[in-house]
Amino acid sequence: MSTPSWMPSIVRENISLKPYTTLKVGGTARYFASVSTLEDLKGVLGFRKTLNYPLFILGKGSNLLLGDGQLEAIFVQNKLNALQLDGEKVRVGAGVNVSYLSQKVSKMGYGGLEFFSGIPGTVGGCIAMNAGASKADTASRLLVVKTIDYDGIERAYEAKTLEFGYRTSPFRSKNEVIYEAVFSVFKDGEAENKRQTILKNRLDAQPYTVPTAGCVFKNPEGNSAGQLIDSLGLKGRKIGGVQVSMKHANFFENTGTATTQDILELMRNIRYEVKKQTGIELELEIIPCFTTYTHIPQHLMGN
Ligand SMILES: Cc1cc2nc3c(=O)[nH]c(=O)nc-3n(C[C@H](O)[C@H](O)[C@H](O)COP(=O)(O)OP(=O)(O)OC[C@H]3O[C@@H](n4cnc5c(N)ncnc54)[C@H](O)[C@@H]3O)c2cc1C
Repeated sequence: MSTPSWMPSIVRENISLKPYTTLKVGGTARYFASVSTLEDLKGVLGFRKTLNYPLFILGKGSNLLLGDGQLEAIFVQNKLNALQLDGEKVRVGAGVNVSYLSQKVSKMGYGGLEFFSGIPGTVGGCIAMNAGASKADTASRLLVVKTIDYDGIERAYEAKTLEFGYRTSPFRSKNEVIYEAVFSVFKDGEAENKRQTILKNRLDAQPYTVPTAGCVFKNPEGNSAGQLIDSLGLKGRKIGGVQVSMKHANFFENTGTATTQDILELMRNIRYEVKKQTGIELELEIIPCFTTYTHIPQHLMGN
C-alpha cells in the first residue's frame, strides 16, 4: 500500500512495536503514532476514518501480547500527560503512568491511589483493564472518564454508571479512546508511607528487572493462578526464549530472544498442565493483538 499524501505528519510507517511493550516482543506496525495532545489524537482518528483501517490504542503496552510479523493496523501510543490536583479530585491525561500518579498524589499528602504504585500502565490502560492490586481496583477511585470515539465524538461518563469487572471494563468493546479521567482522593498524611510499603512488597514478590507483561492468567474464582502454577512445579518451565518466572509463577519472562510464538506455546503448555492436573481452565489476562495477518487460536482465550 502506498503512503497517502494526506497522512498526518505524526503518523509513521513500518515501526517495530517491540520497544512499545514491556514484554519486548511483537511485529511491525503498518502505521504508528504517538499522541501527546487531543488535537493530535483527533488528527489520527481522522486518518483512520479516511483509510478505514483497524486502530489499536496502546498505553505502556504492559498487558499486551502483539503478534509477530506485519500488523495491519494503526497503533496509537497515548502520551496525553496532564495532571492537576483540585481539592479531593485529581484530573489526569490518559497517558500518565499510574505509578507516577500515585507517587505524585501521595507526596502531596493525599491517599486513595497507593495501590497503583509499581503498576507500569497508563491511566487509560488501567481504566480499560480495571487494573488493581492490594484489594483495590481502578474503578474504585474513578469519578469520570472522558473519551473520543472513532468518529471524533467526545463523551464524559460518570464512572458510577459504568459496569466494571475483574480486569475488564466497557471500554474493552467500545471504539472509543480514553483521553482523560478524574479520580477521587482524600487527605491522608500516611499515604506516602503506605505507598512505599506497597511498592516494596511488589518489588519483593514480582520480577521487575526483566521484560514481562504482568500476570498472564486471571485468577480463577477463589484461587490464585500463580499459586496453582507454582504448586504444579511449573516455575522455570521454558519454551524458546520465554520462561515461567522463578519469582512469580503467573509472570512469563522474556529471557532475551522470545518470540510471540514462544509465548503462545508456553501459555498453551501451562494451560494444558493446569487443566490436566486440576480441572481448572485458566483464562488469559494478557490482551492478544494479532490483527489481520496472524490469528490467536480460540482455545488460548479461555472463553
Ligand atoms: C511488572 C508488571 C506488573 C503488573 N502489575 C499489575 C497489577 O498489579 N495489577 C494489574 O491489574 N495489572 C498489572 N500489570 C498489567 C498492566 O500494567 C495493567 O493491565 C495496565 O492496566 C495496562 O496498562 P497499559 O497502559 O500498559 O495498557 P496496554 O497494555 O497498552 O493496553 C491494555 C488494553 O487497554 C487498552 N487501552 C490502553 N489505553 C487505552 C485508552 N487510552 N483508551 C482505550 N483503551 C486503552 C488497549 O487497547 C488494550 O486493550 C502489570 C504489568 C507488569 C509488566
